[in-house]
Amino acid sequence: MVKKFKAGYIVAIDGPAGAGKSTVSRLLALELNGRLLDTGAMYRSVAYFAVKESVSTAVGFSKIARRLKFDYDANNQSILVNGQEMGHRLRTQKVSALASKVSVFKGVRQTLTACQRRLGKMWAKTSPVVVEGRDIGTVVFPDVEYKFYVTADPKVRAERRYQQLKKQGTKGGSLQSILKSNIERDKQDSHRKYAPLKCADDAIVVDTSKMSINQVVQFMSEHILGKISLMEG
Ligand code: C5P
Repeated sequence: MVKKFKAGYIVAIDGPAGAGKSTVSRLLALELNGRLLDTGAMYRSVAYFAVKESVSTAVGFSKIARRLKFDYDANNQSILVNGQEMGHRLRTQKVSALASKVSVFKGVRQTLTACQRRLGKMWAKTSPVVVEGRDIGTVVFPDVEYKFYVTADPKVRAERRYQQLKKQGTKGGSLQSILKSNIERDKQDSHRKYAPLKCADDAIVVDTSKMSINQVVQFMSEHILGKISLMEG
């Protein structure tokens, strides 16, 4: 059955590392016939170029953020940075760890937040938009109607990320090292001064520890569809 969803709305999805947000967001965007804005990929891109160019200062990170032009392919598969597809280069543990470090700086956040708002609003003119990150429902799009906070037990999250990296053939370290790095990232993300990771007061919390990806996507799309049909009815 083809479901009819109207354009012009944004779905905010936040949560800690490895909770299944990326997969859920991609599938939800597909289900809604919409677009996906993966904001973590922007922070990862800044980190990737910082590693490549041996940049390690706040000023340097902000300069990189301002220089990068972000776009996404319409099939919701990958981010394009200055016209170049980034692919799995953004998924190494080194880039993941540095992404969390560059994201604490105000200059980086201001630039990327402005870009996220611009892209999200532009896309929402013609289709539903799923925006995934850490501060979407709290800072980037605090006024949107659909907000989810996707979380899961830390061990479950580490195991999922481990399996995902293994499947992709990306070097990601042992299960233990992923667990440790997730815990460090979550701590850094939730304790930073600007736009820390936290659940928006009006977000629906989805604990995915014991749910399959499909169950999560179904739950979200039914919630959205239900609200839309209530508004229309
Ligand atoms: O979601 P993902 O794991 O790709 O995000 C990488 C890092 O980017 C996160 O650990 C977080 O530090 C940062 N991030 C952020 N705000 C967002 C999205 C990601 O600070 N909206």
